[in-house]
Amino acid sequence: MLVKHVDNIVPLVKTPGRPLPAAGDIVILGGGIMGTSIAYHLAEAGVKNIVLIERNALGSGSSAKPLGGVRATFSDPGNIRLGQRSLEAFERFGEKFRTDIGLRQVGYLFLCRNEAELLQVEDSTHIQNHLGGSSRMVTPDQAHQINPFLDPRALVAASYSPRDGFAQPSKVVQAYAEAAQQLGVTICQDTEILDLDAGGGEVQAVHTNRGTIRTPTVICAAGAWSTRLGAMAGVHLPIEPVRRQIGMTAQGSKPLPTVPFTLDLSTTLYFHNYLNGMLLGISNQDQGTWFLPGVRLPVAAGLQPGCGNCRTLLGPPGPGSRLGRIVRKHTGPQRHDRVFGHCGGIHVRHRILGSWLPAGPGSG
Ligand SMILES: Cc1cc2nc3c(=O)[nH]c(=O)nc-3n(C[C@H](O)[C@H](O)[C@H](O)COP(=O)(O)OP(=O)(O)OC[C@H]3O[C@@H](n4cnc5c(N)ncnc54)[C@H](O)[C@@H]3O)c2cc1C
Repeated sequence: MLVKHVDNIVPLVKTPGRPLPAAGDIVILGGGIMGTSIAYHLAEAGVKNIVLIERNALGSGSSAKPLGGVRATFSDPGNIRLGQRSLEAFERFGEKFRTDIGLRQVGYLFLCRNEAELLQVEDSTHIQNHLGGSSRMVTPDQAHQINPFLDPRALVAASYSPRDGFAQPSKVVQAYAEAAQQLGVTICQDTEILDLDAGGGEVQAVHTNRGTIRTPTVICAAGAWSTRLGAMAGVHLPIEPVRRQIGMTAQGSKPLPTVPFTLDLSTTLYFHNYLNGMLLGISNQDQGTWFLPGVRLPVAAGLQPGCGNCRTLLGPPGPGSRLGRIVRKHTGPQRHDRVFGHCGGIHVRHRILGSWLPAGPGSG
């Protein structure tokens, strides 16, 4: 398929407006990957009267931001195990949910440009291997063979993990939501949570712009906005969102060579194939965290294939650059829950249901 204009890379599906129920046994606040996964896993375990509230369309927060990396290559053993379980779930996702989530296991390539990064990545690779992972260190020339866009002279080494890759998070959100609805979950989109009634350590009701739902239990899955919702119940949730920029290169007439999800530790620049072009991302390193509702920060100059230190890696920017010209940019809040969305749902299910969790396929 030749795509000239990338206008709607993540179509979000809104179900027709549903009447707001007057009461629910559990109300989930937020309809991203975490909220929909929690809804599905609780419903699968037999919980009834679940209501999920989303102020916009499902996935419209961080979760449907284009083409997310899925990996088990972390440095912390807990994160590695969560990533491994999520990869297993995503590998079986199509079979279980009868949907294609666009999983492409093209591998992850972490680039080291100095000794400090090399030691850090070697250490992480050792821990990953100890936990059964298949990541391995490669030389600069091998990294160039795996990803021909890289200049090996800019590298001291890289780690390559062939099982990792990327998928389309909006499709995962949609699949969880549809499966949850089939199991009886009520999903209310276009419904904004305005306040929570909570006193004596217990929740009584959720107030929304469409009415009030009485409930004894709420689960906050509002991602970057969780602190605000926690405060409505008098609970401090220490969430510190940071922004991340993404951009697309222009679409060509034929696909570029397939490369792994490639992440440059020095600049935080990452990229991977997107149709006949590339999708790129970078963190705003000088920005710190933010929590200013409604404030849109300008896209920093950082996201250019030729920016500062990226130039040595990928060559100069512009139409003739090895990656191509960036035609679209976007910023949004970032945490690393999408990889863990599957496990997050299972974890919350265990916390809610405790020991009376029925054994079976849902025990995750
Ligand atoms: C550009 C970008 C690239 C990323 N890349 C990756 C990646 O490669 N790999 C990875 O694992 N992660 C990545 N992430 C992070 C990942 O997308 C998030 O960690 C994940 O989607 C968070 O899911 P969530 O369900 O917790 O939050 P969200 O998806 O943000 O869901 C929270 C929902 O709560 C709703 N909400 C908030 N307040 C209210 C209210 N008052 N009333 C009703 N609803 C409300 C919001 O509308 C939102 O839909 C990336 C994020 C961005 C922005």
